[in-house]
Amino acid sequence: MTVELIFVGTELLLGSIVNTNGAYLAEKCAALGLASYFQTVVGDNEERLSQTLRTALGRSDVVILSGGLGPTEDDLTKETAAKVCGKALVMHEPTKAAIEKFFKDRGLEPTKNNWKQAMLPEGGIVLENHNGTAPGVVMELENGRVILLPGPPNELRPMFEELVEPYLARLTSQVICSRTVKICGVGESKAETMVKDLIDGQGNPTIATYAKTGEVHIRVTASAEDEKAAMKLIKPMVKELKSRFGNDIYSTEEETTLEKSVADLLVANKLTLACAESCTGGMLSARLVNVPGISEVYKSGVITYSNKAKRRFLGVKKGTLQKHGAVSRQTAEEMAKGACLMLKADVSAAVTGIAGPDGGTAEKPVGLVYIACSVKGKTTVKEFRFSGNREKIRESAVSAALTLMRGCILEYYSKVTFGKK
Ligand code: ATP
Repeated sequence: MTVELIFVGTELLLGSIVNTNGAYLAEKCAALGLASYFQTVVGDNEERLSQTLRTALGRSDVVILSGGLGPTEDDLTKETAAKVCGKALVMHEPTKAAIEKFFKDRGLEPTKNNWKQAMLPEGGIVLENHNGTAPGVVMELENGRVILLPGPPNELRPMFEELVEPYLARLTSQVICSRTVKICGVGESKAETMVKDLIDGQGNPTIATYAKTGEVHIRVTASAEDEKAAMKLIKPMVKELKSRFGNDIYSTEEETTLEKSVADLLVANKLTLACAESCTGGMLSARLVNVPGISEVYKSGVITYSNKAKRRFLGVKKGTLQKHGAVSRQTAEEMAKGACLMLKADVSAAVTGIAGPDGGTAEKPVGLVYIACSVKGKTTVKEFRFSGNREKIRESAVSAALTLMRGCILEYYSKVTFGKK
């Protein structure tokens, strides 16, 4: 089966953006065993796009287009492709509802042209977009298949992996399997450097890195005639990743989150937990409480935002606060020790920092966060300097606290040393 790729956008023709979707889709299609002989970049022009699509349909079984699905006037891929394929555009009610929700959730009003995105080719298979408002579409025709995907890579990639890859695999009677190696405490660029040779030399399986707040996920994907054969291709790559990242891998299970891996460690070692939070304002507790079964180990959490609260509920010394300040290594340490003592727990995590946008100084800038973790009387404190806005800094602090807890518990029980690479 042959596949042909068309990338729509005048920005691409002018060199204002790099066609990273080209490399991505080409690699994915090759891994699926699809033969690909042509790729075209075409501007936002109806006539030239129609001509390109007609030519592609005349010589390839599947034509994938990326870009031009947005709400503005120059986004004309869907309208043009529907015309070439002889399909009318009709209002797709679930997409209309999703667009309504997307804007409502953000406290915004959709403009008239947003509804254009809910007009989809009649009879098409709708590909839901979880990261934007423009859905993708598959049109099945007598002379081939046309697949329309959004341009932004953060929308195109998940849509391709979740929906298009399995669709194409079914057509080629291949199955697609993947495993995600989940890493915490290693920055995105470091993780990418550590696997650069694997990415450069990849074939089947492919590997891709995805950055999450405080985590990096590496997805290993293989195509083969059945699941067993695909897993056989995946296994050696996962083994290689394990040898490179070691204990920084917290799971290779799809459903295991970082907080669940911490909860599992607490449960397995019969350790009770208390959290003491300042700048994260309960976000750490909230993430842990997301894990079903946490009640077995989670005792309590306190939000001690003011100095007074830090003293009253955690026993932080007045002198410590006066001498070192609320955002300091010493305060974090006393918060963690106090949480274990006053809330009667085996393990505690404490977070104190400056989330901004105000309150930073040259010595203590916005983003400075101290996180402490006590495990049965042994307390570790780490300093972090996070970037981003207030929300991002707080989310980063929560992920770092979970990572530190995981490291400290593992270190306590198995004498593994963390953070010294
Ligand atoms: P939107 O709804 O955001 O308008 P769209 O599907 O209409 O999405 P375009 O308007 O064509 O897509 O492109 C939006 C952005 O997506 C571009 O500015 C660019 O950042 C990115 N993009 C588009 N095509 C590509 C590509 N081939 N490779 C990499 N990035 C791309």
